[in-house]
Amino acid sequence: MIKQNLLSVRTTIPDQVKLVCVSKFHPEESILEAYQAGERIFGESKVQELCSKKEKLPTDIQWHFIGHLQTNKVKFIVPFVSLIHGVDSIRLLQEINKQANKNQLVVNCLLQVHIATEETKFGFSASEVLELLQTGTLQEFNNVSIRGLMGMATFTDNTQQVRTEFSHLRQLFDSIQKMKSPLLPEFDTLSMGMSDDYPIAIEEGSTMVRIGSRIFGQRIYS
Ligand SMILES: *Cc1c(COP(=O)(O)O)cnc(C)c1O
Repeated sequence: MIKQNLLSVRTTIPDQVKLVCVSKFHPEESILEAYQAGERIFGESKVQELCSKKEKLPTDIQWHFIGHLQTNKVKFIVPFVSLIHGVDSIRLLQEINKQANKNQLVVNCLLQVHIATEETKFGFSASEVLELLQTGTLQEFNNVSIRGLMGMATFTDNTQQVRTEFSHLRQLFDSIQKMKSPLLPEFDTLSMGMSDDYPIAIEEGSTMVRIGSRIFGQRIYS
């Protein structure tokens, strides 16, 4: 089933767009099935679940952390994580930098921008992101590489609204790229699009989609 799902999802994603298979709440066997179909990037949203799966699965998997990350748990994932999508505060960035420094690593991060109208979503506003860059705050973070931005659209059937939100994020991404800031030498990733809205996200310029239920089926929260 997972193989078929992947085949049909893959046909809808252009080659230059990266696919993160969101495996949260799904068992290791499901991840292995996707792995055997050729997938190497998997996304998890709980630190404990990620660490325990990582122990048991092939070492060439690239693990992405896609959830809300608490500062006291950063140390557990920094040694091996490929990309942290949801960096939503300076305090979190500081802690990632500190742990990365301890491990003599540079950790790839995306700044989460709240583009949705919903109040509950975490993240920076567009103007906070621009301010962060202009004030040189990033200068102190030698062990973090800001690779780009991540955003989630409003959960709604109104596709025009979703499109507008993605388009705003793309515009912010483009304008930051145009600055060619020496603080952001590897700014190349725009993570937007999930199972229900990724085709719109791709049309609006996403470079990385995070897809769970369309590949693995419905999650069972217990
Ligand atoms: C769970 C999750 C996804 C995947 O959601 P689906 O609707 O199952 O594709 C993508 N991004 C984030 C941040 C998530 O938490």
